[in-house]
Amino acid sequence: MNAEIIAIGSELLTPFRQDTNSLYLTEKLNQLGVDVIFKTIVGDSRAHLTAAAHQALSRTDIVIFMGGLGPTEDDLTREAVADALGLGMHRDAELVASLERRFAARNMKMSPNNHKQADVITGAVVLPNANGTAPGQWISGKYEDREKIILLLPGPPHELKALFDQQCVERLRAKVPPLFIATRELKIAMMGESLCDARIAPIYKRYADVQTTILAGAGEIQLHLKTRSDSLEHAQQRVDDLVEKLEEELGDFVVSDNGDSLEQIVSYYLQMRNATVAVAESCTGGLLAERLTHISGSSRYFLGGAVVYSNQLKTAFADVPPAMIKRHGAVSREVAVALAEGIRKRCGTTFGIGITGVAGPTGGTAEKPVGLVFHALASEDGTEVVEKNFPGDRKRIRWFATQQALDMVRRKLK
Ligand code: AMP
Ligand code: MG
Repeated sequence: MNAEIIAIGSELLTPFRQDTNSLYLTEKLNQLGVDVIFKTIVGDSRAHLTAAAHQALSRTDIVIFMGGLGPTEDDLTREAVADALGLGMHRDAELVASLERRFAARNMKMSPNNHKQADVITGAVVLPNANGTAPGQWISGKYEDREKIILLLPGPPHELKALFDQQCVERLRAKVPPLFIATRELKIAMMGESLCDARIAPIYKRYADVQTTILAGAGEIQLHLKTRSDSLEHAQQRVDDLVEKLEEELGDFVVSDNGDSLEQIVSYYLQMRNATVAVAESCTGGLLAERLTHISGSSRYFLGGAVVYSNQLKTAFADVPPAMIKRHGAVSREVAVALAEGIRKRCGTTFGIGITGVAGPTGGTAEKPVGLVFHALASEDGTEVVEKNFPGDRKRIRWFATQQALDMVRRKLK
């Protein structure tokens, strides 16, 4: 079965408000084995809403309308859906009474326009709303000779969630053929999206029943794998098989196959080895320390570090020789190494990490352009350095740099 979600509200067509409800509903519908094949956003216009309703009813089994069930002039969902279905409405006396009780309980007088929230489309089941005044409505029946389920839900996210979870999920489950869904997530570090796809596309294309979604960020690719089947074992086996083949192809570019983040994996590895780490960061300004300490329990392996922007502090906190900075510049292979070795020695850690680079957008030169970053990892085996030219804006370059540094620790400990 498939569904269309229609979000209603002129505010959702401005830059100031987002339709977040549909994300929630999509996840819940997917868990029931229902695919969301269209999402529509419509402003508070009766004509546009009726048109959207006609279109949705002509192409999907389940149509969910949300928002526009309030008491004001611009709340037109009930009227428009009734128009589209060619059905009438009646004012439900019991609903009017319950609205009046709700206002009386708060010592408030109900204004007359609230009455329209008691209008029910002919044949609809009323879904009481414990968190607000607008009840939902459930309609199931034939539209142009095909079985349809039509749902009207309130717009405020907390009302919608409670009403959907408590009153719609089981009703839908009874109507939808049982399907089991299995998912897996792979995280891949420091590999370009096109190179990654070129290597894995021939593999995942052989698994037509598994939906593979590639989400690329700065220095990280997430592969979301999802399949469904009438048997849970079969669904799980299909995604597990594909994960195995992808891991074989991508080798140690794979950070995790269960959704764990790079910093989480680094945390596991450091703890397994009883190792500790300290950082000396220039262009990332503490972002690496932030990511390392984002993990609960990080005090077991992260001892501390320094944010050293000025040349003086590179010397004062990490013992970088002033003559070295003068000779090679603050953004250089030599200074990255000195930062890593200096902070390791000062803090007495297993590993020291040094980062220095040009995050931009200003400060680049022909010789040292924006995006140039040196990363060094010092240990008792010596110090390795990686030089990169990252693309993108300041935020992206800084994220890339921390991703690279964390990945060096991961690879060292693997
Ligand atoms: P309404 O039911 O149209 O009166 O909407 C009431 C409130 O819920 C407004 O503040 C809306 O911005 C919010 N809202 C409505 N639809 C959505 C949606 N699809 N996602 C997130 N918030 C919404
Ligand atoms: Mg509205």
